[in-house]
Amino acid sequence: MTDAAKETCAQCSRELEADDRVAAGDRAFCRSCYRSLRAELEQVAEAQSANINYVNAAIGAVLGGLVIALALTLPLGLETHPRAS
Ligand SMILES: [Zn+2]
Repeated sequence: MTDAAKETCAQCSRELEADDRVAAGDRAFCRSCYRSLRAELEQVAEAQSANINYVNAAIGAVLGGLVIALALTLPLGLETHPRAS
């Protein structure tokens, strides 16, 4: 066996023992790195779902603003048009 055959953690490059190895996709991590990576991924997933909620809220606000703008400008337009002619 050569040194190259020794599997290392994709995060901290520590040599992995059989009882301290977690495979994730095509990479292998030590247990402590896997735990922190997993926590990071969960935070990213939470942030993404929060962003989706934020985008939906922003779209709703823009649409609501347009409706209010139309409601405010339409009567004014009807009022000013006859006066202008
Ligand atoms: Zn590691």
